[in-house]
Amino acid sequence: MSESEGKTSWHPGEIVPDSGIYECVCGGEHHWSTDVKGHRFPPLPSNCSGEYWTIKAQAHPDDGRS
Ligand SMILES: [Zn+2]
Repeated sequence: MSESEGKTSWHPGEIVPDSGIYECVCGGEHHWSTDVKGHRFPPLPSNCSGEYWTIKAQAHPDDGRS
């Protein structure tokens, strides 16, 4: 079983699993987006009380391989 499977939150410094838009959990609408998976999550903003990032929108949600 893959460790990244089903994972929905990532701490700063962890590997980005997918391109897309990420949102912190503080409720302050801090967003971060990337087009490049394999990067690492940035630190949360200094005025952010959250501890990790969650996925908000995938850039390429399983596009048609039919
Ligand atoms: Zn925040």
